Amino acid sequence: MNYCSLCGAEIGVRVPEGDNRPRHVCGACGTIHYQNPKVVVGCIPEWGDQILLCRRAIEPRLGFWTLPAGFMERGETTQDGAARETFEEAQARVDVIDLYALFNLPHIDQVYMLFRSRLLDLNFGPGEESLEVRLFDEAEIPWDEIAFPVVRETLKLYFADRKAGGYPLRSGDITRSPEEPRRYRVRIYGDR
Ligand SMILES: [Zn+2]
Repeated sequence: MNYCSLCGAEIGVRVPEGDNRPRHVCGACGTIHYQNPKVVVGCIPEWGDQILLCRRAIEPRLGFWTLPAGFMERGETTQDGAARETFEEAQARVDVIDLYALFNLPHIDQVYMLFRSRLLDLNFGPGEESLEVRLFDEAEIPWDEIAFPVVRETLKLYFADRKAGGYPLRSGDITRSPEEPRRYRVRIYGDR
């Protein structure tokens, strides 16, 4: 951020009075432009024992499979956002059941909230951001072609919990290793 979105003057980075961390502050009008993490909401759409995945038509990770998810919009609930993203990316209508996975991704300032949901019918298909949308049995999940670590970890937990007979709320952290940018560290809370 270089220029103030209110008055157009140059922005500097400094700790405002009464604050304790550097912020983007306008040198002319004094507006503090706060930057905070974003919430990504999405669904694990279920149809019997199958779940729905989308193959990405956009970067990053074009051609890889993911759960339908995206940035929460202003004025909506997390549940509504998850259902909206599922409709946009997979043209699929769902009933949201409950929150299943909450992941912190502090290295990219994102919080993921993924909800179990029930597909209402089989009239789904690729939205603008998907090449292909289909249902998968657990045995068919393309583990080597999953787009993001947060999706892989969520699916691993999901199928393990299904075998155990229930879906408790799961939460964890996924952080990029500072030494090796392609490696991720995963911490699941409450894991033994
Ligand atoms: Zn300004």
